[in-house]
Amino acid sequence: MPIRVLPSALIDQIAAGEVIERAASVVKELAENALDAGATRIDIDIEDGGLQLIRVRDDGRGIARAELPLAIERHATSKIATLEDLAAVMSLGFRGEALPSIGSIARLRIVTRAVGEEQGTELQVEGGRARMPRPAAHPPGTTVEVRNLFYNVPARRKFVRTAATEFSHIARLTERLALAAPAVAFRLRHNERLILELPGASDERALTARIARIVGPDFLPRAIAIEEHGGLSLRGWLGLPTASRASTDLQYWFVNGRSVRDRLLGNAVRLGYRDVLYHGRHPAYILELRIDPQLVDVNAHPAKLELRFRDSRAVHDYVFHAVERALAGTRPSESVPAAATLTLAAAGQSTGATQPLWANAPVVNDVDRQLLWLRGAADAAVLAEAAPQEERPLGTALGQLHGLYIVAQNSAGLVIVDMHAAHERVLYEQFKLQYEGAAPAMQRLLEPLAIHCAAAEIELLLEHEADFSRLGFELARLAPDKLALRAVPALLAGADVAAVIAEVARDLGREHGAHHLDGAAHRVLGTLACRSAIHARRRLSLPEMDALLRQMERTDRASQCNHGRPTWTRLSLPELDQLFLRGR
Ligand code: ADP
Ligand code: MG
Repeated sequence: MPIRVLPSALIDQIAAGEVIERAASVVKELAENALDAGATRIDIDIEDGGLQLIRVRDDGRGIARAELPLAIERHATSKIATLEDLAAVMSLGFRGEALPSIGSIARLRIVTRAVGEEQGTELQVEGGRARMPRPAAHPPGTTVEVRNLFYNVPARRKFVRTAATEFSHIARLTERLALAAPAVAFRLRHNERLILELPGASDERALTARIARIVGPDFLPRAIAIEEHGGLSLRGWLGLPTASRASTDLQYWFVNGRSVRDRLLGNAVRLGYRDVLYHGRHPAYILELRIDPQLVDVNAHPAKLELRFRDSRAVHDYVFHAVERALAGTRPSESVPAAATLTLAAAGQSTGATQPLWANAPVVNDVDRQLLWLRGAADAAVLAEAAPQEERPLGTALGQLHGLYIVAQNSAGLVIVDMHAAHERVLYEQFKLQYEGAAPAMQRLLEPLAIHCAAAEIELLLEHEADFSRLGFELARLAPDKLALRAVPALLAGADVAAVIAEVARDLGREHGAHHLDGAAHRVLGTLACRSAIHARRRLSLPEMDALLRQMERTDRASQCNHGRPTWTRLSLPELDQLFLRGR
């Protein structure tokens, strides 16, 4: 075959293959156009999962009659004009591909009326060919109708799933758009049934309601608000570790108002949770990053889901540290039980440059208050009484239960602590500080301790020798199956260190080759903390128990053990009264 230029309808179809993967992609393109046009409400009507009909109607700027034929031309856009515009793009669209692509694979009808024009205009496209525009009635704004999707692309139709599946993609997508643009009202109908009705959220109460409607009512009460400003700004909510999930279904990332599924950002959050999440669990979060558009390339992916940051390392570390810091605030405090502790992460100064998405986002105090309110006035009164003792949220130890739990009393009621899990967390955080600090406090042993292990285990321990010495251990090989321990971290003075090291060696052997997010050093620290923590059935004196409670109160993340389970809980007096049907 000779080389030839393809007919333009075929070029559009080829482009459509990239942008329009399924019905939900059409909805995304049309709704994003509506948002770019400044719509305050967007109505989406779907029939048969979008295969019969997709209709998106908005009250935005509309398209001027004279420009309408251009709107369906390839590479025709009103959103950028120059390379500089492209480099600083803030609109959702800019490639000028969506309408011509859709027109090449479906029957397309646009009815629009630009602000200031007397009458609307209609344009129909079929098989990539446009009819003559003609006058039509329409209020200011635009309606785009897409019928018989893929009718002329049998190859694509084969990949289309059932109408129900296609519609569920459309519903998820609409939810993401609605979170990205909270001020805009959305309505979604399927086969004339109302599926989603979201009024524009102009205040924090409405925003809270929208979030609850989309991600469920349990998320916000079990989340920490995060808000950081600087060169970059990050805001949103981080689900508490105890609200983690079996899948990644409750993870929302928005960058400059665009919903994205970017690997770098996802990994940064995951890393921020590494110390508080049980293996195989996934954090829940809604996060928005604001960044100078010059520093991010959104033109890296046809559907613009993946981004390219100019300084990806800096963005990654910024997000990672912000998330880690926010989660570090999950220490025991009396005002709310461990499972619902809320802390406001460092709130800084507003950059003021661009409007953040959630300008009216409830700050944590509001959520906090709401939570108290939900839990009843009686409880709030008890909490108020408890204020003077706030420095001891976990109270005073009363005794030990079955060698597993510490039972304590604070002014609000009863506190129960999982002894091993709590101590493990306290030690882990201390080990991390030692590890990251300059010179560890170590204790030299007068007589080196001999440790017997399998030769392979000794190899593993010595592989991590640098980590051990940063912690304050001094290890040396005496024989293929024998180690000498000449110094130990001051933290572990008095513990049966030889037994701990032998156990760590065994654990390392078992886990060798396993994939760990946090790398070898943290694994050693974690194993060490677990193996050195007080074990079940160890008898503790009351002062020892109190000491642990005080340490917990001072320790970051002490409300969850290293695997994300809670370390303590409490029963307030009103809750106890309820158990005993006792009216007060
Ligand atoms: P892009 O969004 O990348 O510019 P599209 O093919 O999606 O490309 O749209 C082409 C042009 O048509 C847009 O640049 C815009 O000017 C106009 N347009 C499309 N949809 C709308 C709408 N709902 N309201 C106003 N203008 C629209
Ligand atoms: Mg577009």
